[in-house]
Amino acid sequence: MEMAFNKRSVSPRTRTDAAAYLRQWGLRVTRPRLAVVAALERTAGHLSADEIRQAVRAGGERAGLTTVYRTLQLLERMQLVVRHEFGDGECRYELADGWYKMHHHHLVCSECGTVTEYRAFEEENALVARMQEVLSRKYRFTIRGHQFNFLGLCARCCDRSARTQI
Ligand SMILES: [Zn+2]
Ligand SMILES: [Zn+2]
Ligand SMILES: [Zn+2]
Repeated sequence: MEMAFNKRSVSPRTRTDAAAYLRQWGLRVTRPRLAVVAALERTAGHLSADEIRQAVRAGGERAGLTTVYRTLQLLERMQLVVRHEFGDGECRYELADGWYKMHHHHLVCSECGTVTEYRAFEEENALVARMQEVLSRKYRFTIRGHQFNFLGLCARCCDRSARTQI
């Protein structure tokens, strides 16, 4: 039995203690698990499961796609990995807030797929805090986090579409 997903007190959030974090959850520290975390640590992007499989291989480990999927599911439940759907039909993954990456939001270009990350600015944070307050009261919903993916056109695609319209 390696399930203790109702634990909420775990808080090691530095990039090297994934093994300690796994143990804290009562999970076995396996090479594929560490390899998936390491592959995500090495990239600034948002990888699909198949890209993660390739990155794991590039790091000198072997893991099949099924293992990668299962590992990602597990890491997601541990809140070590976040899954995104940016509208390209793929699930994309990155390390959760505090693990190598700081909390950020995304601007996703629906044309070329470019994902721009940015740190929320002060005004935005105030607005989000206010939204959370209102929503949690209105729906009696305890908000523990959020993901913001803004969809649209990046500057390059915007210029290109303006040019083709002339
Ligand atoms: Zn935010
Ligand atoms: Zn674009
Ligand atoms: Zn991101």
